Amino acid sequence: MTKDPARPGAWANLLSQAWGSRFPVDVKAIALEYSTRFPDPIKTIAKADVATFEGALCPLPKSGKWAILYNPGISSPGRINFTLAHEFGHYLCHRSLRPLGFECGEESIYGVGNDDDERRIEQEADTFASYLLMPIDDYRDQVGRGTMCLDLLAHAANRYAVSSTAAAIKWLDFTSEPAALVVATNGFILWCWRSKAAKRRGIYFERGTPLPAKSWAANPTRVAGANGIELPRNVWSPRSEAREMAIFADRYEMTISLVVFGEEVWNSNTWQSERS
Ligand SMILES: [Zn+2]
Repeated sequence: MTKDPARPGAWANLLSQAWGSRFPVDVKAIALEYSTRFPDPIKTIAKADVATFEGALCPLPKSGKWAILYNPGISSPGRINFTLAHEFGHYLCHRSLRPLGFECGEESIYGVGNDDDERRIEQEADTFASYLLMPIDDYRDQVGRGTMCLDLLAHAANRYAVSSTAAAIKWLDFTSEPAALVVATNGFILWCWRSKAAKRRGIYFERGTPLPAKSWAANPTRVAGANGIELPRNVWSPRSEAREMAIFADRYEMTISLVVFGEEVWNSNTWQSERS
């Protein structure tokens, strides 16, 4: 028998290969079936109407088996699917570390946690979920040579049964374009997720800084098409124009934008400010 993978991405790839490319991925069926190869399988996946978590991995008393629970109050089916995959990731990668199991809230999904170890574990569960639900090769085929737009994002979210936010984060993980997802509340940035090309350019939006005044996110009632709004230099970046797509604006004053940056323009002013 071959050894089990050590990394969450490798686990997910192994399962994707075993189950073939049928989308959306049936997380429930895979978790229940695959875990039977272990002495402590997942016995049940069920709703649990509690306010304290979105998803949980719980040891069952006496039997030594496990249950995955999810909160039926989660508003979108995409979030439920991602939550189930996240908990299945904890089961595969972390159950020996935490015999008492996991309770994961919205905070821990997408790795916004307090301590470093906690954050790493939550990020690993997210990575597993992302790889299992949205294999990169298939996602690349869906995007093809097209430019990212809200229609394409909706297509991906629908194909993989995930939220548009999860689909956008996955795109950022493999695109060669400089782009970032920016999540803000009440006009202030909470967190951002960047593509490799954006990191190379040094694009970063610190938690707690105000949204750019002329951005869509700061003016979410502005109407935009599937390609978003073209914004000039000095809105999202001093060195490039940007195209901002409005993924989400909802209750609690939260906004989620996908920002794709254009060519960089260097002139004497930007040189000066970079050098100083
Ligand atoms: Zn978790």
